[in-house]
Amino acid sequence: MNIDKFKGIRTPFYYYDTDILRQTLNTINEESQKYQGYHVHYAVKANANIKVLNIIKEAGLGIDCVSGGEIEQVLRAGFPADKIVFAGVGKSDWEIELGIDKDIFCFNVESIPELEVINEIAIQKGKTANVCFRINPNVGAHTHSNITTGLAENKFGIAMEDMEKVIRLAQSMSNVCFKGIHFHIGSQILEMDDFIALAERINELQDRLEKANIKLEIINVGGGLGIDYANPQANPIPNFKDYFALYNKHLKLREGQTVHFELGRAVVGQCGSLITKVNYVKKGAVKQFVIVDAGMTDLIRPALYDAHHKIVNLTSDAPEETYDVVGPICESSDVFDKDIKLNGTKRGDLIAMLSAGAYGEIMASGYNCRVLPVGYTSDELK
Ligand SMILES: *Cc1c(COP(=O)(O)O)cnc(C)c1O
Repeated sequence: MNIDKFKGIRTPFYYYDTDILRQTLNTINEESQKYQGYHVHYAVKANANIKVLNIIKEAGLGIDCVSGGEIEQVLRAGFPADKIVFAGVGKSDWEIELGIDKDIFCFNVESIPELEVINEIAIQKGKTANVCFRINPNVGAHTHSNITTGLAENKFGIAMEDMEKVIRLAQSMSNVCFKGIHFHIGSQILEMDDFIALAERINELQDRLEKANIKLEIINVGGGLGIDYANPQANPIPNFKDYFALYNKHLKLREGQTVHFELGRAVVGQCGSLITKVNYVKKGAVKQFVIVDAGMTDLIRPALYDAHHKIVNLTSDAPEETYDVVGPICESSDVFDKDIKLNGTKRGDLIAMLSAGAYGEIMASGYNCRVLPVGYTSDELK
């Protein structure tokens, strides 16, 4: 990382390497376009920075939203409404109205009451809303329990046993058009077997629906592909080749069906770093603490999910020492990592927390009346 260009910028801030982002997007397009009918939507909840969105838009990806605010943000960024899918377990009326007004591609519906509201609002507006049902496939994912979403006990989706019933109900309604089924089993999934299990479950469900004479146009398999947080420099691009190939191999499609993917973390995770300055180095009774000016308010993943970001000192090549890296927030969970090796660190050094492009800037909060971190791209910091 060339740090000269960071001079004079207030820390902490996010830095997005657009070369990595563009390479990632090129790889996604190359690998997904090998297969007919594959469409990739970017899950904008991972990062909604307008400059990042513009680059993703240039690559032609669609969008996966989980709120009305996200729909507004991607429309501002210039994404076409007819490439937006809209998921979420608790959509508010105004969000549904917005989606219908803008003619988004599809609502991913998670309950019968939600379906009824979508139909009512569509009737009021004299429009038809496309719907897919999010089915809970009861497929586990080898990831942190807070980001597992596809188990029967999770709040997401419609139970498999109710699937035919809800589809019949949708087909009987005047102003919704049933299109297909949607899944999302979790995030930061690195075991490709988890996706194979999902594909196989979808095959079973599809056979079952065929027996009930229900046809699907859309199969949306969600997102969840993980990134290498331990070795980001060695593996900046996730394994999209194997990811799309496994769906091609294991997911059995019928004539004319399209497969939709909703990738968030895998698109933006590795292009972003949180850059922070060392305020103090404190020697405690048994530990050395590096106290940086970024806190859990800027990057909450370590506190929220026990996540580890690779941390490097950008301004020191002194011999390595062992430190806990902590923030200034008045919470004991405001710790980025413990007992890690850094080049000998002193006040004023610049520290980078790598792989922070996804669920970083977007999750920042103003707790402690903190100023929100700004995100800069490498294109603008020359
Ligand atoms: C969060 C989410 C995604 C994206 O997950 P990643 O792990 O970032 O790929 C996709 N679909 C839905 C419905 C989501 O909620």
